[in-house]
Amino acid sequence: MPKIHYKSAEEIELIRASAVVLGKAHGEIAKMIAPGVRTIELNNLAETFIRDNGGIPAFLNYGGFPYSLCISLNNQVVHGFPSDYVLKDGDLLSVDAGVILNNYYADSAFTYSVGEVDELTKKLMRVTRECLDLGIAKAVVGNRIGDIGYAVQEHAEKNGFGVVKELVGHGVGLNLHEKPEVPNYGKRGSGIKLEEGMVIAIEPMINGGRAGVKFWDDGWTVSTIDGKPSAHYEHTVAVKKGKADVLSTFEYVDNVLKEKNQ
Ligand code: MG
Ligand code: MG
Repeated sequence: MPKIHYKSAEEIELIRASAVVLGKAHGEIAKMIAPGVRTIELNNLAETFIRDNGGIPAFLNYGGFPYSLCISLNNQVVHGFPSDYVLKDGDLLSVDAGVILNNYYADSAFTYSVGEVDELTKKLMRVTRECLDLGIAKAVVGNRIGDIGYAVQEHAEKNGFGVVKELVGHGVGLNLHEKPEVPNYGKRGSGIKLEEGMVIAIEPMINGGRAGVKFWDDGWTVSTIDGKPSAHYEHTVAVKKGKADVLSTFEYVDNVLKEKNQ
């Protein structure tokens, strides 16, 4: 089994620098999301922005993935392709992106509503983001991986939602996907110990209905088994004593959404 790469303080700052470019890219994407926009345009904007800021889109060509963003619409969970699809009022859109800057990787996802979405979708977005925050709160020295998953699962299921089990969070930094796996489900006090120097992507994928997913023939897209919507929020996080250090940021996205009144 490959081992966990524990990062030095200097390496964590390099990952943060990458994550800041990523957070700004998400902000640019947020500005552009509106009815009438094609999802491929979001992809192209993000790729240009990342390169203009000295980075490389981490997803492009990763394992053969053909785009810089994963764009997963409505009942799609993750790993959807940007396309000529034209966004319309009521769509739910998860955008996942990665940046490599100075050889260090950051990974972060955000789920957007296009115009007005239905009440179930609004609740799903709110609860999934809360799941991320609850998971991050457990990413401290002395806890175990299972404490993160337990916090996410408990909150999602309490609200009547399904937790995707087939896909999980992961270590990140020197590569896009490292050890350990960070499931969105688990038992309190189970799994490996969280220690200083661990950098992990915490990424709840929560379904508005059943937990089950299906994998498409395109080799990438994952959607809900029952056609209900799915939401996905992700941060790159350094495990610390007392309080996790969130390296990626939604600050730029939140500022744009505030201006848009969303
Ligand atoms: Mg991601
Ligand atoms: Mg990830």
